[in-house]
Amino acid sequence: MPGASDEFAWIASLRALTHGDPRAIELTDDAAVIPGRPGFDLVVSKDAMVAGVHFLADETPETIARRLLRTSLSDLAAKAAEPFGYLLMTAWPKDIGDAYLASFRRGLELDGRTYGVALLGGDTVSTAGPLTLSATVFGWIETGRAVLRSGASAGDALVVCGAIGDGFLGLRAARGEIASEALAERYRLPRPLFELRNALLAHARAAADVSDGLLADAGHIAEASGAGLVIELFDFPASEEASAWCSSQADEVEARLALAAGGDDYALACAVAESDVPGFIAAVNAAGVPAQRVGRFEPQPGLRITSRGRALSASHLGWRH
Ligand SMILES: [Mg+2]
Repeated sequence: MPGASDEFAWIASLRALTHGDPRAIELTDDAAVIPGRPGFDLVVSKDAMVAGVHFLADETPETIARRLLRTSLSDLAAKAAEPFGYLLMTAWPKDIGDAYLASFRRGLELDGRTYGVALLGGDTVSTAGPLTLSATVFGWIETGRAVLRSGASAGDALVVCGAIGDGFLGLRAARGEIASEALAERYRLPRPLFELRNALLAHARAAADVSDGLLADAGHIAEASGAGLVIELFDFPASEEASAWCSSQADEVEARLALAAGGDDYALACAVAESDVPGFIAAVNAAGVPAQRVGRFEPQPGLRITSRGRALSASHLGWRH
């Protein structure tokens, strides 16, 4: 792309992605105008992705666009918000052609429909560097009900909804290092867990999506809540493929640690009052998502990891760093 005329053609081609939402003003203005909604808070999240860093540069443009929307929307799912729109920033390398743009647009169209989000505006530029993308996503939540990272209390259980490890293994599969198309596909197109909205609203005191790894993201909840956390390595939910991979490794503790430290799972880590755990897990399972109690928030700050109930040995902790 893009000379100035191409830029206008690109914006015109995006107009259908507004779904006729009046807030987008048909992409003809410098800004979107979002009327306030009485009784609701506006939840906003921004993500950026750089080719070769946050996604594989040789993925299809359609997949890259869908992954951008899905990973951004996952943050709204973790807040129990209902998404309605997004702003898009694209920085195209000079050699990007029309077919690439058309495929990228198709990805936005597909998942824009799937998740009910209208394109409300954005900006497009060209760059001498790698393809760089950003989405800012918007959703509504009933006033004061957003599920934040900071709501956990010592004594709460850590419950993980979804599977841990498919992101770590899926990236290797997408690179051709592991033979599993199913894992590669889960890495390319993660699924934001909006079906857990009601379960979160009814039971969760805090939540975060697992983008940087279970240990990091659950640790963020503990830190934001002024609590500490114990995580049991053998308790996190994992797919059949991930469980089989762990059993096949020489050191299963090290393998499970790698999955817990790896990212891109887009599972939800949640803090739930101990007495509420069975009700929460039942509600999550009823929505078709696996869930397990994985740990416990404690008064003493910091993250502690156990392996079948025993504190992780120094050699394993050394591996982490
Ligand atoms: Mg997040």
